[in-house]
Amino acid sequence: MTDYPTIKMLIGGEWVSDGGDGTMPVANPANEEVLGQCPKASKEQLDAALAAADEAFPKWSAVPGAERHRIIRRAAELLRERAPKIARVVTLEVGKPKAQALGETTSAADLIDFLGEEAKRQGGRLVPVRGAHLLQQRVTHEPIGPAMLFTPWNFPINLPAKKLAGALAAGCSCIIKPAETTPASAQLLVECFVEAGVPAGAINLVYGDPAMISEHLIASPLSRKISFTGSTAVGKHLGALAAKDMKRFTAELGGHAPVVIGESADFERTVAACAATKFRNAGQVCVSPTRFLVARGIYDRFVSEFAERASQLKVGDASRDDEVAMGPLAHAGRVDAMKDLVGAMGGNDGEVVTGGSVIEGAGHFFQPTVIAGPSRDSRLMTEEPFGPVAGIVPYDDIADAVGIANSLRYGLAAYAFTSSLDESHYLGSALRAGMVAINHFAVGSPETPFGGIGDSGFGSESGEEGYLGYTETKLVTVAKAAP
Ligand code: NAD
Repeated sequence: MTDYPTIKMLIGGEWVSDGGDGTMPVANPANEEVLGQCPKASKEQLDAALAAADEAFPKWSAVPGAERHRIIRRAAELLRERAPKIARVVTLEVGKPKAQALGETTSAADLIDFLGEEAKRQGGRLVPVRGAHLLQQRVTHEPIGPAMLFTPWNFPINLPAKKLAGALAAGCSCIIKPAETTPASAQLLVECFVEAGVPAGAINLVYGDPAMISEHLIASPLSRKISFTGSTAVGKHLGALAAKDMKRFTAELGGHAPVVIGESADFERTVAACAATKFRNAGQVCVSPTRFLVARGIYDRFVSEFAERASQLKVGDASRDDEVAMGPLAHAGRVDAMKDLVGAMGGNDGEVVTGGSVIEGAGHFFQPTVIAGPSRDSRLMTEEPFGPVAGIVPYDDIADAVGIANSLRYGLAAYAFTSSLDESHYLGSALRAGMVAINHFAVGSPETPFGGIGDSGFGSESGEEGYLGYTETKLVTVAKAAP
């Protein structure tokens, strides 16, 4: 496969293709062809990465912020220059269409830029003193120490980029373990940081058995910060491991985003935006809109136009066809999960308006699926689908819609469409989520915090929070003389 690199780990500045625990195959989810072999790190290799990160930390954190920024900005430039080649690898590994893969790669470069700049901006603050005997009180943000970064497969450039740039900008050394199904994407990103000048040991890259690696790295006395993106179940498990030694922890987990659509919303634009966003990356997006709550007066029309748009999407192998709008699911397990979700529907779980079936043949495909009228306690309305399945329900009263929206333990993104200023203010306050977007779906900009509440996670990434998450706050207070 000419477009696909040999997969290597990076340990203490050395690129190694030999996994101490062997290798595992990486396959294209759209046609199941094997792309390459991913090395699996042994505990000895993890220990070598930990030792390298520990040794590099005092050196990297002592590099002035302006210089760290210069290096990180260069990594962003390299990522932009290489975006077409890297996006091709993203399509091969994830199956997402070319435009989405390219958009992910270039927007990751913007994220890296912003977080790198924080190294110059975050100077702490001086706090006015309370007593005349005090000379100065300053609050600083000190890098925590070696950061252990765990990222999933759905955004194999964007998610590692957020964590790597935040950690490195703050002065932390790091070990990243990306998903084993998308190792080359992360490797090409890490190469940008290395070639930009991040020194040996400050950035390490490993793959392998996720449970063994996370347990080993988190338990090590050398690791100081843990950041995970993935499922709520794994996030809770890693949070408990981190809590044993009071290690700082950030978790960006699943969601089940509601979309409240008011009668006054611009109908055509809203339905077009909803259908396009719902099926982006085959619905495998943590902030994917999944529970559509639609004012009864426009409900029937919304269901019919949404389903029409969903049924027209071209589904297929985006690595061979640039016209494809929706690719495969990540692995066979995701297809089974969709089959189970739709197959388990009972009498009051709604009606399948379009889709609902596995697409047979090579690759892990499921039809874009729209289900109208599921009950509010159905599986579809309560469990994150993480796939191309949307539920649509009518509401009569906006407060009732908010009640349904806020009824789950998830709280990542929530959306609303309305042209009423009153409704917009009300929904912005009343929807319970880490991120609320009104009249659009873009919650992931470099400058703003990205994160959830409840079962959706802990802490934020990107924005200044994405830098501060890798720091510890310290007060230095100085008196003129001993009392
Ligand atoms: P999964 O939980 O098996 O895997 C998700 C990711 O977590 C993978 O990259 C995997 O390597 C990693 N992982 C699993 N166990 C781990 C451990 N013990 N230590 C460290 N990392 C570990 O789920 P899946 O079937 O691949 O994906 C579906 C689920 O994952 C959904 O429920 C979805 O919410 C969640 N998910 C969320 C995001 C997100 O962006 N928030 C991304 C991908 C998956």
